[in-house]
Amino acid sequence: MKKMVNDSSNRRITHLKVLWEKNQPHIQIYDHDTEKVTTQSLIGYGLSYQVPTPFEKVCVNYGDLFKAKRQNRCEKLVKSGKKCGNCIREDNIFASQFHNVHTKDRSSISQKILKRMEKENILYIAGFLDGSTKVGTSASNRIQTRLLEQGAIHAVLVVETPDGITVRLLEDLITKELGVGQAISTRRKIDGLLNPLMKDSLQEELNIISKRVKERILTSGITEITEIDTTWDNEYSSEKCWEKIQKYPINLSTGSHDMEILSVVGRVVALNHSSGMTLLADLDELLGITVEYGQILGDEISVQAKLF
Ligand SMILES: [Zn+2]
Repeated sequence: MKKMVNDSSNRRITHLKVLWEKNQPHIQIYDHDTEKVTTQSLIGYGLSYQVPTPFEKVCVNYGDLFKAKRQNRCEKLVKSGKKCGNCIREDNIFASQFHNVHTKDRSSISQKILKRMEKENILYIAGFLDGSTKVGTSASNRIQTRLLEQGAIHAVLVVETPDGITVRLLEDLITKELGVGQAISTRRKIDGLLNPLMKDSLQEELNIISKRVKERILTSGITEITEIDTTWDNEYSSEKCWEKIQKYPINLSTGSHDMEILSVVGRVVALNHSSGMTLLADLDELLGITVEYGQILGDEISVQAKLF
């Protein structure tokens, strides 16, 4: 086992979730000593911690349930994966109620579910720096949050529908007929940030696709839609710290680390490392893992400076 530095002054904490509040990135943290859940701003947040061996994991749903005073429904500790058995079961029940709801006969759907589908939704096309694009949908009132959560770089908001069923029908239509997918892997998002092939042409590419998408929607026979045509840009991804950035060579779920968060795109962070380098890491690696947090000397890293 690795020797702890300043053992007594370290706090045992678990980072649970990245939350976007008012378009700002935050991290939800469980403190094992106070048994409280807090939310802190991620910009400027110090990632100075070490992962003990063996390490413990906390269910990443625990914080949300704690805030809703429903934490006794969560097993809290998990052995493998990110969520406890109870939370996985509840998630599955919830997801199955909504899964394929738009392909079912409306009379077979419960009033409760129909009521939940009643709010306005937006269909958008989002782009990432590796050049990949996707179609997606979001409740209109949280479209900005949705795009920030996903780490989209640019997007075009194409149409708004009066409910969540119509928007899903349109989304499937676009995927089936225009071949625009509905999900982009974190791997591709990270590749794009490390090596932005499409930086200048991405918005133009999105405009071309969204034009085709809108033409297809207008001839779909579905009439209850409002055209929007708003573009959206991720302000974080254009920050200077992402230029010439390289991958942080150690997985965040192991070892000792000492750095500060400069910017956040989705769950991917730009870090100011104690060596002076600006590096990129996937914060998801850290979520759920109980760490010793305090004044920690980070493990030495070996990264060659990018020359261009
Ligand atoms: Zn749980």
